[in-house]
Amino acid sequence: MKNPSAYDVVIIGSGLGGLLSAVMLAKEGMKVCVLEKNKQYGGCLQTFSLQKHVFDSCVHYIGGLGEGHPLHQIFEYTGIMPQLELRAFDANGFDRICFGDLPTLYPLANGEANFIEQLSSYFPQEKEAITQYIAAIKNVGDHFPLYRLRLGAAAEKQAVSGWELTQKIAQITPNKRLQQVLLGNNLLYAGVPHRTPFYIHALVTESYIHSAHKVVPGSSQISKFLIMALRQYGGEIYNHATVEKIAVENGVATYAETADGQRFFARNFIANIHPAILLPMIDSTVIKTAYRKRISQLPQTTAPFMLNIVLRPATVKMRHYNTYWHQHEEALKAIQYIPGSFPETYAAYFTESKTHRGYAESVSILTYMHYDEVEPWANTCNHTLSKMDRGQAYTDFKEHHAQLLLAKVSQHIPEISANNMTHSVATPLTYRDYTATPEGAFYGILKDVNQPAATTISTRTKIPNLLLTGQNINLHGVLGVSITAVATCAELLGDSYLLQKIKQ
Ligand SMILES: Cc1cc2nc3c(=O)[nH]c(=O)nc-3n(C[C@H](O)[C@H](O)[C@H](O)COP(=O)(O)OP(=O)(O)OC[C@H]3O[C@@H](n4cnc5c(N)ncnc54)[C@H](O)[C@@H]3O)c2cc1C
Repeated sequence: MKNPSAYDVVIIGSGLGGLLSAVMLAKEGMKVCVLEKNKQYGGCLQTFSLQKHVFDSCVHYIGGLGEGHPLHQIFEYTGIMPQLELRAFDANGFDRICFGDLPTLYPLANGEANFIEQLSSYFPQEKEAITQYIAAIKNVGDHFPLYRLRLGAAAEKQAVSGWELTQKIAQITPNKRLQQVLLGNNLLYAGVPHRTPFYIHALVTESYIHSAHKVVPGSSQISKFLIMALRQYGGEIYNHATVEKIAVENGVATYAETADGQRFFARNFIANIHPAILLPMIDSTVIKTAYRKRISQLPQTTAPFMLNIVLRPATVKMRHYNTYWHQHEEALKAIQYIPGSFPETYAAYFTESKTHRGYAESVSILTYMHYDEVEPWANTCNHTLSKMDRGQAYTDFKEHHAQLLLAKVSQHIPEISANNMTHSVATPLTYRDYTATPEGAFYGILKDVNQPAATTISTRTKIPNLLLTGQNINLHGVLGVSITAVATCAELLGDSYLLQKIKQ
């Protein structure tokens, strides 16, 4: 049992949200402890290797790490920015969007003026509309004060939060193909027609238009440097520490208890885990039954399916851009694929070989998969600390879907199948078991423009010393989670104080 006065803050979960919060609080003098259930820290920042090639489990590229962007400033403040080994994508098209078997790759470029110029060369009649689009996403960003590292009122956000994504894009341009190109990298936010708010699209795409980078040694470099910073500021972090209970006395959280019975006492707690996983850990009437029910019933974003391929050396040309392919004219339709039509979209993320420059050593292919496809194996659990063979039928299922995906990829990039040395597959169950996200959801809770209040979770809870952080609160992704970590820490440090420190 830890000393009752041991910590100022105990953080549950070492995803980006937990680690960033930990470093910010420790840097400002608090005694912080992070508890992580897995062996490897970082949640979605984890990497793994296949035939000695490093693969990102989730984060293949990051928007907003370029100088002058708030994310750059936040990483700078934590001290990790100069340490990261980053590689910028092709500025004239970091993402390229294609449809069916048509050869055209429509570029989404870095820099506002360059974005307009590059895309206008494919849509010369639409230059004005593309300019309007850039103005619209910038306008949304301006209404989210923390995305500009400034103080502001909630009313500002509300003024731009009620627009539905497809409607807003249709208002900007009647050109159907341009609309779909603008929606082309929707795997980045798992957009659902008539439900996803425009602001989600705007905040995500604005950051990538600002700058798009890959962490060259793998996304776990971010967690590695954050942990080094945390320790340097006197913080502690433990793996193999699954929190099962948060004790509450007189309406205040007192300790977090791990599966092995250890108790971690603190004055404050931050949960970097999905709220639906957190609430059952809290045995207190302070959290009302109606709230518990609402959170447990919230719809999740559609889950990912990822195929990671090691390529034969010096065979597949390196692309310094990501390809997003759509079977349909409508880019958002693929998320609602019906069984038998899997997959209707994919993204291909290449990693350059260190020994054969100009060639790719590996590629990760990402698509959607509905959780009910893996429901037959829902009661299995397989991760590094709890190895379990889900059985031959599951292995066959994975391989069948890997081949379906490869067949679609071959239409545009045939050299991938031909040079596939070995591959591994991650399904919604993989993501569920490694991050404890219900149904292995891509980005946690689905934000629904029709139910803004119900699907927006606050950083505060009814328990005054229990705060929330991570992708389920506000926005997902490296940018969204980092901004939320600032919002969470501002509750303990004061918002103007923290923003001033970050901007310094
Ligand atoms: C397939 C995929 C691809 C993505 N690609 C990108 C991308 O290219 N760029 C981008 O910016 N974003 C991307 N994202 C989104 C981004 O990775 C996430 O939004 C973000 O990393 C989530 O961070 P988090 O801190 O909210 O939580 P998580 O990363 O989910 O971390 C939560 C942590 O809590 C731990 N935990 C859970 N329960 C317990 C418990 N009981 N006790 C202790 N610990 C616990 C988990 O093990 C985990 O380590 C992608 C996500 C996915 C799934």
